[in-house]
Amino acid sequence: MEYNVESYLDMMRFLNESSDDYFFLWEFATGRLFLPPSITEKYSLPLNEENYCTVEDWIKIVFPKDADALAEDLGEVQQGKRLIHDMVYRLVNNQGEIVWISCRGKCGFDQNGNLIWMVGRVSDTLLANDTDRLTGAFYLDRLLAELDELLEKGREGYLVLIDIRGLQNINLQFGRDTGDRMLKATAGVLEELAEGTQKIYRMNGGCFGSVFLWRQETRLKEAFDQLQRRLGEQCMISGGCVPLHLHSGKEAVTLYQYAESALAYAKTNGKKELIVFSEKDYEKKVAALALTQELKQRIENGFQGFSLHYQPQVTTQTPELYGAEALLRYESCSGDRIPPDHLVPVLEQTGMICQVGLWVLETALRQCKKWRRRLKGFHISVNVSYTQLLEEGVENTFLDLLKKVGLPGDALTLEVTESMQLHDYPVLNRIFSKLKEVGVQISVDDFGTGYSSLSRLKNLQIDEIKMDRCFITNIDQSTYNYYLVSKVVELAAKSHMQVCCEGVETQEELGVLKQINPSLLQGYLFSRPLSAEDFEKAYLSF
Ligand code: C2E
Ligand code: MG
Ligand code: MG
Repeated sequence: MEYNVESYLDMMRFLNESSDDYFFLWEFATGRLFLPPSITEKYSLPLNEENYCTVEDWIKIVFPKDADALAEDLGEVQQGKRLIHDMVYRLVNNQGEIVWISCRGKCGFDQNGNLIWMVGRVSDTLLANDTDRLTGAFYLDRLLAELDELLEKGREGYLVLIDIRGLQNINLQFGRDTGDRMLKATAGVLEELAEGTQKIYRMNGGCFGSVFLWRQETRLKEAFDQLQRRLGEQCMISGGCVPLHLHSGKEAVTLYQYAESALAYAKTNGKKELIVFSEKDYEKKVAALALTQELKQRIENGFQGFSLHYQPQVTTQTPELYGAEALLRYESCSGDRIPPDHLVPVLEQTGMICQVGLWVLETALRQCKKWRRRLKGFHISVNVSYTQLLEEGVENTFLDLLKKVGLPGDALTLEVTESMQLHDYPVLNRIFSKLKEVGVQISVDDFGTGYSSLSRLKNLQIDEIKMDRCFITNIDQSTYNYYLVSKVVELAAKSHMQVCCEGVETQEELGVLKQINPSLLQGYLFSRPLSAEDFEKAYLSF
């Protein structure tokens, strides 16, 4: 090969004019690195009049974290240890943006077999669609590809996703520049903590991902805490992660979905926390979603699978039937019975409880009307969720239902579970007082398990307190429960409220409750909740 730089440079000039890539020639003897002048404007790389600079000049425009690895690789090329250079690394352009480039070159020899130069090309467009200019992070597709590779190799570690909380608000309040600075800082610190082993990925908004090739969860959690500390209070982050070693054999997309679900959990939890993915929680969530779909369809199909069971409520001293509590039951398409403790939260979260609640109320009222023909004064208690009470005009809807069914208001007690929201007195009292005008009674269910106290309940127009089962169980053996229930009954009487004790299971409990003397009792001792048919057979066939 003839050693003629000029002819090569001519060819390069031609190529450079007809391509988006930058062709280069690096001459080892002189250290001259020839590049096209177009690169000068973009990356502030000063070339002299003959359009060359040195490798040292080039390394100056390389993103600092990538500079050492590049210098090492080029050093080996110079020493003849490698004949091919093929790297992706970052440059910083004159806008301060981080640009991933692909740089490839091959060494050439003179006719005596001496190493003389490297010729190659730099592309700053090849990776442009895969990377985020602001932070230099790669996008999701790359993460999945890298993850698949790691999984195939059986590598141990964690896929980690983190999210800057309230980025939109930060942009709004402090301007986009602040948001951008936060994003850059987050990507930077995350990369440092990942110890340069893997790349950083940006998903959307303020969400970043990386793979930490460590096995110890404690070390990962420490890194997360450090990330939070270094970013400062203004930038709060949530995180979700999945251990690769517990999910070998699965695909990258699946693991990504897992990490996303752990992150979503961390975000809803509202804590600055790193949540490790739990298969059990995930399956629960997936099952809840499937259940939601099923419920939607079956509600539209005339409340298929829904039914009510009725549990008797009796007077304390002379055990007489006072009425019943209507309890929701659901049998899924697959024949499983979904307990209300599981079902009701799903209905509440999806808002379906409003529709179902009305169906419950109407069904229970019709049943009550029917049973009243046999047992005058039969009374029905129906559970109502707080979500239902938030519906505009709910009191009128309830009153219309009573009218439609043809039942007097005093046949109905609405049970509202004690919860924090019961403190929204004005709204609730407006609803309650309208209902009370026709005699509907309001009961506070599960009393003692939430946040209310009797003094607080004074602000609400309540007719009944349902003592939660946990105070009734073994009341014959617990002095504390005995005094607590006695006190509630005493104070309730002073405020003209009645008390119903739930969950009476044994004769011993009944004996003690007779001394305390609440108005009503309910529990397995008298009967478990029964289908309408069984209830009729047991209590109304005379
Ligand atoms: P809750 O309103 O406090 O209903 C009493 C629960 O205690 C019922 O459970 C009942 O079966 C159970 N129970 C009654 N006596 C005993 C006993 O002696 N021992 C034991 N261990 N348990 C007893 P269930 O039917 O599983 O209902 C659970 C909860 O689901 C209800 O608690 C209520 O909060 C909610 N729920 C049920 N139906 C509806 C509904 O139609 N609407 C709404 N919003 N919630 C409902
Ligand atoms: Mg109840
Ligand atoms: Mg209860």
